[in-house]
Amino acid sequence: MKTEIERKLAADFESSYGKEPLLIARAPGRLEILGNHTDYNEGFVLSAAVEQSTFFAISPSKGDICRIFSSGWKDKPEEFSISTLEEKTPGDWKNYVKGVLCEIRRRGFQFGSFDAGVISDLPLSSGMSSSAALEISACLAFEKAFGLDFSPVERAKIGQASENKYIGVKTGLLDQFSSIFGKKDSLILCDFRENKVLRNVSIPQGYSIIVVNSMIKHDLVDSDYNTRRKSCERAAAEIAKFAKNVRTLRDVDSKFLEEFRGKLHIVDYRRARHIVEENERVLSAVSYLEKGDILSFGKLLFDSHESSRINFENSCPELDYLIEIAHSLPGCIGARLSGGGFGGISIHLVKDDEAGKYARRIQAAYLLKTGIKTDALLCRAGGGAECAEKK
Ligand code: ADP
Ligand code: MG
Repeated sequence: MKTEIERKLAADFESSYGKEPLLIARAPGRLEILGNHTDYNEGFVLSAAVEQSTFFAISPSKGDICRIFSSGWKDKPEEFSISTLEEKTPGDWKNYVKGVLCEIRRRGFQFGSFDAGVISDLPLSSGMSSSAALEISACLAFEKAFGLDFSPVERAKIGQASENKYIGVKTGLLDQFSSIFGKKDSLILCDFRENKVLRNVSIPQGYSIIVVNSMIKHDLVDSDYNTRRKSCERAAAEIAKFAKNVRTLRDVDSKFLEEFRGKLHIVDYRRARHIVEENERVLSAVSYLEKGDILSFGKLLFDSHESSRINFENSCPELDYLIEIAHSLPGCIGARLSGGGFGGISIHLVKDDEAGKYARRIQAAYLLKTGIKTDALLCRAGGGAECAEKK
């Protein structure tokens, strides 16, 4: 049975093309729950697929021209040609879809033209990975419509390659893995040394995640990101001079790091400490959750934010203020910045029965202190990408 959002997409599809879609694929957005900047240090990340998703409707057509719209955003169908997929206009949203097609073709598979429509209840460009949701829902729809069948890992790599090569954004596999391997009421544990999903970890019932956007956009995110990354690499290289088995900060534990406190540059030491402790927090979080100890899990979220604030310095006053409010409001058992930092979103783990009130209160307190109006989005961990069988 179609959900309301799927019915809206099917209706928009019919009024654009005068026919029903053959099928609709769905792929969710994601949240980084714990494991901040650990991916490029070959460490661990706990993420969640959210229920908010992107839906991709498709119907194969004849000829060389593909048509596609995005409900509520680019309502009028736009066109591109199958024979000139490699040509791209910078900043065009269709690049995410064309990049997926290029990657499918590069793997030696054929497809024809199509009419398509997209709809999403994910906020765009807000750190919840609407781009991966678009790529993965598109890829699944292409597979079902054109008789292809990629493994979930290959599907993730197609989405990633579309971003890396076609959009030109250097991202890892977290977004696509999370969108594909999500499970209801569970988190996803990824290992970025092996580049794989280790397992799903269930969250005790009765809790929601509220996403509060600081609405701060930092202009220097790329250069800050690069200096953080270089610090981590320098710290690992320095430690490796004394310990041959160390390749990245993944190989260092906090006790071992302490032996190098005097040997490392003080800034590199603090950056390394954040990474090393984040990896340990992720593994502790898994064991707390497996014991059903949500309170200790929540405390790790607060600890992670504190480490971002002090050691990694990838927070900002507005994010710090959101976390301060989280400490003082009833019902919240953990909160932290989520994603790259320097602005962007924060996540708040809140008891279900307090969630509505909490969302209203944090928005009001944030507005009062900063003058910034923000949304508070209620999220639950949901299932991964799917596509009903072709009729
Ligand atoms: P995030 O992935 O964090 O949401 P990105 O900048 O990586 O942010 O991706 C956002 C971009 O992805 C949008 O600017 C748009 O080009 C494209 N996009 C994502 N979802 C949709 C959608 N439903 N319709 C059209 N374009 C979309
Ligand atoms: Mg993205």
